[in-house]
Amino acid sequence: PTTLPEPPGTAPEPQPALDAADIPRPPVTLPELAPQPPGSGEPSMTEPFGERSGALTDYIVSVLGGPNGTGTAFVVDHVEAARGGVGGLLLATTRTVTGGMQRLLLERSDGQQLHGYVVRAFTDRDLAVIYLEDQHMPAASGGLPITATATVPDQMPLSLLRANGQTFTATHRPTRRVMAAHWLPTSFTALPDAGGAPIFDQYRYLVGMITCNTSHNSTHLFGLHIAAIRQAVDQYQQERRSNYAYCPTCGAGSWAGAFADFFYCEHCGGVLPHAQHHPHRYPRPEAEGLYQLGNRPCPHCQAVAGIHRNRCQRCGQLIDPKGEPMRPR
Ligand SMILES: [Zn+2]
Ligand SMILES: [Zn+2]
Repeated sequence: PTTLPEPPGTAPEPQPALDAADIPRPPVTLPELAPQPPGSGEPSMTEPFGERSGALTDYIVSVLGGPNGTGTAFVVDHVEAARGGVGGLLLATTRTVTGGMQRLLLERSDGQQLHGYVVRAFTDRDLAVIYLEDQHMPAASGGLPITATATVPDQMPLSLLRANGQTFTATHRPTRRVMAAHWLPTSFTALPDAGGAPIFDQYRYLVGMITCNTSHNSTHLFGLHIAAIRQAVDQYQQERRSNYAYCPTCGAGSWAGAFADFFYCEHCGGVLPHAQHHPHRYPRPEAEGLYQLGNRPCPHCQAVAGIHRNRCQRCGQLIDPKGEPMRPR
């Protein structure tokens, strides 16, 4: 068996999606926006939520102390209470806001501070999922009203809402660029914080989350569509039921982490949280099949000859690259 190198303990930088011409580039520091004074200008633009913002901010928190400054997170799902345990809430923010942090200080709209835990990150979408015991946000029941449409019409007025009630408005930005459907082009060019605030359409439906990602040739920011957030959260819920562990290094759910004596994430090789302080980490032979497809014995001829283009290099048989990792013996 080959020895797995000890991976660095630090988290990688967020990796925006690279699947389109309109490639979001790494986040940049943006100037602070002055909050819009209430009661001036067009009422529909300066106070887009009116009296309802009070109820909406019950679902929104500030994320304090992250590597890029204060950000915002909002409730997107519930977690059922485990046996004898308490239920929880899942909140969405950006990976840029959380970086590789696992424990976060959150601040509710009424100023109450709480602890949340990053349980999953999707670096290709700049998305991080935070877990919080639901007793900490008793008013967040029922969920935010979510848009039913997969696409947001061009020029649709959009509003960001922060936990402190500040709102910022812009529009959906028409673009002819081809890009992943989960990115929402907006006319926002600056953010009031490090990102993660919920975006609402003009009918006050949640359509997504603002990020610091921009296209390479403009300063317009992208949002992440709520459908992509829900899909990611559903994936996390499935992994959670299978006891996958969170790998803070790459953000993935680690199947190896479901076993106390497997020390490394099978996606990135990072040391899993439960093994951080283990005195004797070593690659276990029975876990080998998890870590590198090329090191996995061929299911047809059992040779560990390596895999090229999904075929065993010894017998040439096709091997399913997405096949279930071998179960530990
Ligand atoms: Zn990992
Ligand atoms: Zn073979």
